Amino acid sequence: MSARYLLRDPIRRGTSYGVLIILLFLGLATFGGRRQPPQAAEGATTARLPVTRVYWNKAPLSANAYAPLPLGSIKPRGWLRRQLQIQANGLSGHLDEFWPDLRDSGWIGGPGESWERGPYYLDGLVPLAYSLDDPRLIAKARKWIDWTIQHQRADGRIGAELGRGDYRTIRQESDTWWPNMIMLKVLTQYQEATGDPRVIPLMEKYLAYQMKMLDQAPLREWAEHRWADEILSVVWLYNRTGNARLLDLARKLHAQSFDWKANFADFKYNQKVMKEDQNLHSHGVNNAMAIKTSSVWWQISGDPSDRDAIHQLYGQLDRYHGQATGVHSCDEHLAGLDPTQGTELCTVVEAMFSLEQDVAILGDPALADRLERITFNALPATFKKDMWAHQYDQQVNQVMCSVLQRNWTDNGPESNIFGLEPNFGCCTSNMHQGWPKFTSHLWMATREGGLAAVAYAPSQVSAKVANGVDVTIVEDTDYPFRDTIRFTVHPAKPVKFPLVLRMPGWADWVRLTIQGQTDIIEKPGSFHTIDREWKSGDVIELTFQMRVKVTRWFNDGIAINLGPLLFSLPIGEQWKKVKGDEPHADWEVLPTTSWNYALEQIPTPDQSVEERPIGDSPFSPEGAPLRLKVKGRRVPGWELVAGSAGPLPRNPVITKEPEEDLTLIPYGCTNLRVTIFPHAATGTR
Ligand SMILES: [Zn+2]
Repeated sequence: MSARYLLRDPIRRGTSYGVLIILLFLGLATFGGRRQPPQAAEGATTARLPVTRVYWNKAPLSANAYAPLPLGSIKPRGWLRRQLQIQANGLSGHLDEFWPDLRDSGWIGGPGESWERGPYYLDGLVPLAYSLDDPRLIAKARKWIDWTIQHQRADGRIGAELGRGDYRTIRQESDTWWPNMIMLKVLTQYQEATGDPRVIPLMEKYLAYQMKMLDQAPLREWAEHRWADEILSVVWLYNRTGNARLLDLARKLHAQSFDWKANFADFKYNQKVMKEDQNLHSHGVNNAMAIKTSSVWWQISGDPSDRDAIHQLYGQLDRYHGQATGVHSCDEHLAGLDPTQGTELCTVVEAMFSLEQDVAILGDPALADRLERITFNALPATFKKDMWAHQYDQQVNQVMCSVLQRNWTDNGPESNIFGLEPNFGCCTSNMHQGWPKFTSHLWMATREGGLAAVAYAPSQVSAKVANGVDVTIVEDTDYPFRDTIRFTVHPAKPVKFPLVLRMPGWADWVRLTIQGQTDIIEKPGSFHTIDREWKSGDVIELTFQMRVKVTRWFNDGIAINLGPLLFSLPIGEQWKKVKGDEPHADWEVLPTTSWNYALEQIPTPDQSVEERPIGDSPFSPEGAPLRLKVKGRRVPGWELVAGSAGPLPRNPVITKEPEEDLTLIPYGCTNLRVTIFPHAATGTR
């Protein structure tokens, strides 16, 4: 344990932590036992001090555009808070109480699963707990974190003993690198929220151990493909300690890793990947995690081709596997453009996390546009509205969720039902990070001592600006269901600092009003800086030009968009319990109304959208806050094939069926839906 770190890092915790640290250093107190000194437990749970210090990339690392704020700086408000509370009251707040893979986990000393599932769960539970300041969830998280810290071995190893635990028993050192990468992400978030001085020494000791072991136990399989997730933690630690050996470790990890940049420069997976071609490079979740790899590595390499590699990556993924939700298809492996192929929930949350990192490192507003698109569409759609059940695979055109072998690349018959662990339990443990990490990345610090709103949702941020002045900014909005956002700035004293606001690329213009003075931003798709002196109560209002837009997808099919939201035709649904006990049962969702419609008229940008109140469950068919009327005709030949909508008819579709009024709602509000429509251009012939 290094005194230097003990004395340096927790300075931002203020006096009480400083005193505690000195006591610790003198050996007068032991922090972190199950029987902790009361002030230590209190300091980490209820009586948290404002945590506002930001760490920028330290030389020789490349300069990151924005710095994420410490966990706990951003609090959800409005519908986002209600959504996090739904999550806390659902599986995320209770899974560890009954699911054997968590209840008996080797990561808390149990005899059960000892690989990735415990760390996955914590990776979402920690930001959920500290974003909501929920003592019950914080206590749950602390149980796991304390076990990990207290059971670090003398040589530096962490986690369960080798050879213990069912499923994917960890037999050799190389098997531990991947789950430990997740636990490092957990620990960094936890340290930011609490300042717990045990975390940094643990990380130093573990990473020094890994450095020694990597020659004899190199990265392989999952760790070889997901190595960028560890680089994040290595950079995090380097920025706090300046220990140059950490950069040596980063280079060693890189040297043993799969080269994602080369993979996308010579991309071999240009269609649905069939069995004989499937491997860890075609694996959908690995590809979602790879979205950040080159950006993360650029921080160390400084090579401009690493910084720019994300454009080639997205060029390939969008061209061959892109879906209207903003995330690629993968029903285990990359699955092509057909909207009936699946997208795994792990892929959704990992793509979001990758984009949150990419935005911070690169400062590219288009990546934040994509982050919102995935968050507001793909994420909520794949959960039951109470978040007690989820799918493994969602489909953009999803007309029946049932136990049936669908046309997946590799997944099983349960993959699109809503349940506890349909198909496989990875998503059951990994899904928790989606909403909480989106919340903790809404705002970031700017290099000029200001704050940037990189993604929008009702929230409140507290941070230090302009060399140390406390400021809180309240963001009141029902975005993305409404077009206006109101920010109220509350600095401790009048202070000049830049406030950076993202102007979404989908808007043709944005109206910006500061203290009653209006400006029109003509060219969105950028970050807009307002550098002025702010006084308490100053108000900024943003109104986006949010109009209906049509985009074209598979077979020239039509998707309808409003701002970051995608719209779908909801299909009448009957929920049928398959197995399990409520509230965490497995459910099929069967259609009760027709779904095989072609659009008669393509909506125009001026089409009006009906606004409904934003209630307690906005991401549900009955709670949908927006409705869009269109006209369509049924297409009798377009029928179910193996439980999915049959091949999307090519345009124009000829149908003599009568014209019908249809009501579309946001994709994220639906369970059964058609999203990509054919066009009935000659419907009356
Ligand atoms: Zn999964």
